[in-house]
Amino acid sequence: MFGKRINLFKLFGFEVRIDLSWIIIVILVTWSLSKGLFPFHYKGLSVMDYWGMGIAGTLGLFLSIILHELSHSLVARSYGMPMKGITLFIFGGVAEMSDEPPSAKAEFMMAIVGPLSSIIIGLVFYGMHLMGTLGGWPKPVNGVLRYIFVINLLLAAFNLLPAFPLDGGRVLRSVLWLIKKNLRWATRVSSTIGIAFSIGFIILGVWNVLSGDFISGMWWFLIGMFLHGAAKASYQQLITRKALEGEPVRRFMEPDPVVVEPSISIEQLVENYIYKYHYKMFPVVNSGRLIGCVTSRQVKEIPREEWGRKKVGDIVIQCSPENTIGPQEDAMKALSMMNQTGSSRLMVIEEGRLAGIIALKDMLKFLSLKVELEE
Ligand SMILES: [Zn+2]
Repeated sequence: MFGKRINLFKLFGFEVRIDLSWIIIVILVTWSLSKGLFPFHYKGLSVMDYWGMGIAGTLGLFLSIILHELSHSLVARSYGMPMKGITLFIFGGVAEMSDEPPSAKAEFMMAIVGPLSSIIIGLVFYGMHLMGTLGGWPKPVNGVLRYIFVINLLLAAFNLLPAFPLDGGRVLRSVLWLIKKNLRWATRVSSTIGIAFSIGFIILGVWNVLSGDFISGMWWFLIGMFLHGAAKASYQQLITRKALEGEPVRRFMEPDPVVVEPSISIEQLVENYIYKYHYKMFPVVNSGRLIGCVTSRQVKEIPREEWGRKKVGDIVIQCSPENTIGPQEDAMKALSMMNQTGSSRLMVIEEGRLAGIIALKDMLKFLSLKVELEE
């Protein structure tokens, strides 16, 4: 949500990351468990007990969400879907998919497994809680076990709401997809339902705030806003994907791009290229041979007074799979690379030579024309 992510560890080959927003949540959850929920339900324990329970409860919640997302990722991988990893952020977790599921069945299985694992985790903790109650385990331990049981059931229930792109909405989409054999229609219907839910949450949030319950009101409002954005984005993403799929990079590339020589200074690069053409990336070519590229981001890192002395050759970035693509590759691949790296221009390379440049702007122009003509 805030964009800054920290890598935690790897699980079955998936990178588990946290968004910085999660840290705020960890503190809030620990605090409200230790100061609110546990003291309310389990009276007469020490302050240390409550804090211990709060920390254990938060950890349990954290692990439950990771397991839920992991189950999505494992099923996705078994269907051959590339997964980027798992990111924990303000509203729980997201398993990052970089493509649409290959079939309705794959989508159904991928979606349903999340709530199912939450239910199973919940039942395991319920069993432990029962054992603890019968076996006379310490009160704080039983309390935490019970909390993890309840929170997993809540997690399953919330995710089963048919509000796309929540799991329940994905289940709905897969069923619609199966019935009509039309992914686009299924996505349109389920994301419209998702948007309706999100508006409901926003209204609920406002109503709560107006009737004095500011904290839960804010929560519903934020969840509604988040769901609204996600439902809208998923539909647009599908339209983009469908329009660009099967179109080769060659179709959008500029075959005769502006290039710079490694011998010019940064000063000249800024004056004669960046300010003149307004591009953020230029290929660096030395007597016909492509060396790499130079970006405005790098220029920014060099102190102003060194611009006259330093040359483009000193800061050139080597060609890598992150900034180059082949002319026959799918334009959709170029788009997802741009998405991942944040650069809006890629070098198109054919047999080691610079064949052109593909720019986000040109692909978007094509997209809007296509949608305008064919919708
Ligand atoms: Zn899920």
